[in-house]
Amino acid sequence: MGATLSICDLTKAFGQTHVLSQISLDVQAGSFVSLLGPSGCGKSTLLRVIAGFEAQDQGTVSVNGHSIDHLPPRARNLAMVFQSYALYPHMTVGENISLPLEMERLSPFQRLPLLGRYAPGQRMLMADITAEVRKVASVAEIDHLLDRRPAQLSGGQRQRVALARAMVRAPGLFLMDEPLSNLDAKLRVTMRSELVAMNKRLDATVLYVTHDQTEAMTMSDRIALMMGGQILQYDTPEAIYSAPAHVDVARFIGHPS
Ligand code: ADP
Ligand code: MG
Repeated sequence: MGATLSICDLTKAFGQTHVLSQISLDVQAGSFVSLLGPSGCGKSTLLRVIAGFEAQDQGTVSVNGHSIDHLPPRARNLAMVFQSYALYPHMTVGENISLPLEMERLSPFQRLPLLGRYAPGQRMLMADITAEVRKVASVAEIDHLLDRRPAQLSGGQRQRVALARAMVRAPGLFLMDEPLSNLDAKLRVTMRSELVAMNKRLDATVLYVTHDQTEAMTMSDRIALMMGGQILQYDTPEAIYSAPAHVDVARFIGHPS
């Protein structure tokens, strides 16, 4: 079951630059929510605060009803996927995917089916790691690529490996920051539906950052439209399109005003 995410009154400045102004957002378990807005509006900063890479000045982030503000990134029940895949070039695909499980002690949140055999804080046995890697590789449809190195893969295959590596940690929440923006146009369209299918298949919650309104409109259960560090409207794609709540929303999605 995906996690619920609840953001309350989140505020963040870099020096004199106010980047996030009292952001509040509730994301339902299992839903696909896009954070849509122009470049520089604070989308990546919001994801980085949720992931714990940046500290907020004010406000709280809760997952499944519990504040995660005091937890380091690794202990938060989430995985982040970026536009640059950050795969290790000298390792095979399989090694890239298994690395998070080999490096980390299990967090109390991890939802591995094998978890019954492990207490939080324990390290996994190699045989169990291999079984998990095979499972996520099958979901990401890269079973046949496990022995290759990143240089031997296409852009789309690399993106799938990055997704599999995020999945193997079995998070309740995926944070994705423009993960398709390095792909060519055709592959980008294919991967849109693949990501949505993955979201449904894993029953995971996804918060998806994009500046591309077609992506947001076609993929999302709901869209949070962000500008200037604020969320101007949080609604279904249909409602954002047909009933923009703000003149800036109307302008951004291309209504003449
Ligand atoms: P987006 O992802 O929507 O394009 P960002 O969250 O990356 O926007 O950036 C929002 C604003 O915050 C920009 O003005 C950016 O220059 C500024 N910013 C982001 N990170 C930092 C940082 N580490 N230090 C200073 N300013 C930053
Ligand atoms: Mg960004």
